[in-house]
Formats: sequence, structure tokens, C-alpha cells
Amino acid sequence: MAFPETRLRRLRRTGALRKLVRETTFRSDELVQPMFVVGGSDRREPIASMPGIERLSINHLVEEAGEVNECGVSAVLIFGVPGDRDEGGSGAYDDDGVVQMAVRAIKDAHPDLICITDVCLCSYTSHGHCGVLDTDGNVDNDITVEILAKIAISHAKAGADMVAPSDMMDGRVGAIRSQLDQEGHSKTSIVAYSAKYASAFYGPFREAAESAPEQGDRRGYQLDPANIREAVREAKLDDEEGADILMVKPALPYLDVIKTLRETSDLPIAAYQVSGEYAMIKAAAASGWIEERDAVLESLTAIRRAGADILISYYAKEAAQWL
Ligand SMILES: [Zn+2]
Repeated sequence: MAFPETRLRRLRRTGALRKLVRETTFRSDELVQPMFVVGGSDRREPIASMPGIERLSINHLVEEAGEVNECGVSAVLIFGVPGDRDEGGSGAYDDDGVVQMAVRAIKDAHPDLICITDVCLCSYTSHGHCGVLDTDGNVDNDITVEILAKIAISHAKAGADMVAPSDMMDGRVGAIRSQLDQEGHSKTSIVAYSAKYASAFYGPFREAAESAPEQGDRRGYQLDPANIREAVREAKLDDEEGADILMVKPALPYLDVIKTLRETSDLPIAAYQVSGEYAMIKAAAASGWIEERDAVLESLTAIRRAGADILISYYAKEAAQWL
């Protein structure tokens, strides 16, 4: 039946009717809050391009993680911003490194909060690339993979529930899985950054994590924004290598990738609303050009509608409060 018998506006008439037929919702316990940890004590360093987000020393991080958890958010994703860096990024697998100490402190204070750790080298290498460089200045895949496995082990030892390799090296999920199993960490899950695109939307993060590469860019290892079949191949390989959860990053510009991976894989799909997505909403809201709360909830709903099961967002805490 067509108009005038069929009138779709009938079900849009009131808020109660709209709620009754709403197709997509999300819960606070599907949100993950990314956090940045620095060494030292009693440090709170605002990040200019990400208003409301700070680099925190462990005492403040533990406090903030507790608040995030109280709001109903289930998990935090920890990024380390160490003071010292070297060519090989050795600080990344130091058992007394900033992430390892942070995980121990968080699990101690909030045992139910899921601790996910970023496994990468870019914040730990003097050159800022996600792996070690060969003599030609290219990231050496296979040596990097060995180091990534070492990092994952040190995080698991500290008590991380999940490790999240974000480097985009070939074969790293398999190497991390077998190393974890060999060393008695078969319970530690792997969240694989499967479709991590070489995106312009990471700009503010690089300020936050002080991880901009000194030379060159990351297009030699991250996905080309124009490709989607390649994302499916990456996801399949990560699944075969033992990933527990697949991730798409960024989120809003890549809804088609989220939808495609949701349809081609049975694994849970996480989507990462990145720093640039956060910064754009913040900046527009600060200028009075956009309604912040509505824009955030609409974006997260859209990411969920595309098929993401897990929503990683700098707005996680606030969104949980708004829900
Ligand atoms: Zn990296």
C-alpha cells in the first residue's frame, strides 16, 4: 500500500512511539575509554587538541579509571607516554614501564574493570615509527613482531585482560598468541587492530602520545583509506592467527568497513572513534556550531548501527553519563 494509506510518520509522532520502534541502541558497558599514562607522580597534563582529555600519572589514572567504571563503562584502553625513548623502543617491554605499573595499579584498585593495553612501539622509539628500522630506514616487520610479542607478554604479566596490537605488522597476532600461550597467558585476549587506516584523523592523538614519526609516515604499514577488500583480508588473517576481537579504526569515516567486517566475520567487532573525530565535535561545540551531546550520541549510534559491538571513544565516560 502506498500513500495516503501508508504513512510512516505515524510511528514518529511522539517520543514514546519513536522509542518503541527504535532499531539501534547501545549500552554504557559496550564503551571503552582510552587513557594516556605518564611517569612520575601527581601529573595531569591537558592535551590542547583534545579538550577534556589529559595525560595522567598513575595515581590520577587509577582515580579516573575508577570514575569511568562507576559510570558503567566496562573497559579502559591504556596508552603509555614514557619519558625515555630509544632506537629499539626497549621501554615498551620493561616490567616496570609506565603501562605495566599502571595496569598493576588499576587491577589492584578496580579488579572488575577490563584493562586493555596498546601494544606498539611508536611512543617508545626515538624515531616515532611503530617498529624498528632497518638500515634503509624502513620498518623491519619480522624483528618488530618479535618485540611486539615481548611487549604483550610484559602486559599480560602485569595483569592486562586484553592486549591490542596497533602496529599493523604482518603476522603479529599469531606471534603474540603463541608467545602468550607458551608463557602461561592463555587467558589473555587479543584485540587486533585489523583495519587500521593511514588516517588524517589521528592528528590530536599524536600530540597526546607524542608519537608523530620524525621522518616519513605510516602508509607503509597502515591500510590505504581507499581500500576495503584489503581490510577483509587483514581481518581474516587476524582471525586465523587467533584474534579474539577485530577492530576498525577510525570509526565514522569507515562505517562501510565496520559493516562489511560484521557481515564477513563472526568475531566481535570493535570500532575506534579516534582523536580527530573527538576533536572535531569538541571544536564545533566550543564554537556553538553543533550540539555536543546530540552529535556524540548520534555518532556512536551510527557506529553501532553499522555493526560495531564495542565502541572505543574518548567520549565513553561522558556518553555513559548521558545514557
Ligand atoms: Zn604505533
